[in-house]
Amino acid sequence: MELSLVMPCFNESRQILTTFAHLAGYIKNVLSRKADKLTVIAVDDGSKDDTWTCLAEAKQNLLKEVAGTVNVRVKLLRFSRNFGKEAALLAGIRAVSPTAAATVILDADLQHPLEVIVPMIDKFLATGADIVDAVKSDRGKESGLNRWLANSFYDFFDKHSRVNLKNMADFKLLSARAVRILADLPEHERFFRALCSWIGFKHAEVQFEVAEREVGVSKWSFRSKVNLASDAFYAFSDVPVFLQFLEIVFVILLGVGQVAYFAFILLAQKRPLDRLDYLTFIVLLGVFLILGSNLLKSLYLQRLYKAALNRPQYIIMQED
Ligand code: UDP
Ligand code: MG
Repeated sequence: MELSLVMPCFNESRQILTTFAHLAGYIKNVLSRKADKLTVIAVDDGSKDDTWTCLAEAKQNLLKEVAGTVNVRVKLLRFSRNFGKEAALLAGIRAVSPTAAATVILDADLQHPLEVIVPMIDKFLATGADIVDAVKSDRGKESGLNRWLANSFYDFFDKHSRVNLKNMADFKLLSARAVRILADLPEHERFFRALCSWIGFKHAEVQFEVAEREVGVSKWSFRSKVNLASDAFYAFSDVPVFLQFLEIVFVILLGVGQVAYFAFILLAQKRPLDRLDYLTFIVLLGVFLILGSNLLKSLYLQRLYKAALNRPQYIIMQED
């Protein structure tokens, strides 16, 4: 079986030699029994340190180490600047050879343990699934607040979208056709994890424990996480438009309350409405009209946005 590994790397100079050394050992002792041809694709996402030179050195070390065991190729790509992990993943899967039966996506910092790769391959072969998701059995050493925010986001998101993300990582095994379909999706502002769920196909799971990062720091700032979350809401759910609809429902309820109040004054108290009553009613009516036309515009934008994503209308899995 031909296997590919895709690894995005950003400012990993202190890590990359260690990662490749572990990988060489793993290929030699374990993976060589599962795969007869292997391509490691590492994408340097515009690192500001010397990740690129480390990758070149790590490549030579790895090739030396595995020589004579299994057919290994190492392909290194370097971005002109930091385009982000999503872009690095895309470049990585676009570089996968069409002959690779399976492709494993994993982080360069060993937080996605190499030992999980073989169980993923076994699951892939045993179940015939196109995607094997490595699911976090715990969220590593994340702080309480981080964990709470992430869990609330995923709970809310799972309820309001068609994709399942809870405890998912970008750590996945993809079949050849899943790689091809993901690589061909033309959309910008990608969210790899969600797209893997969106394309459908049979999914299987293996559990893994997130290892601790040994050197360096996580490149995900709070801001980049919020950005990813908002991309997710726009691209995979209708929540932003639904919120505008809820605003209008709220204003309508206020209006109904006001009319009931007027009726009470006119019919039960038998006194006339004063100017302030008329004024508040007109203001409310104005707000209703503005929100209503806003919603209409958003509905147009939503349709334009979906057209711009240009996702396929369907994906055929089998023909007979
Ligand atoms: N990464 C990348 N580009 C970026 C940020 C991160 O390619 O702009 C890579 C990084 O080198 C690592 C993976 O994405 O291989 C996950 O990043 P990190 O470990 O910082 O994130 P965390 O483990 O905290 O999710
Ligand atoms: Mg990490």
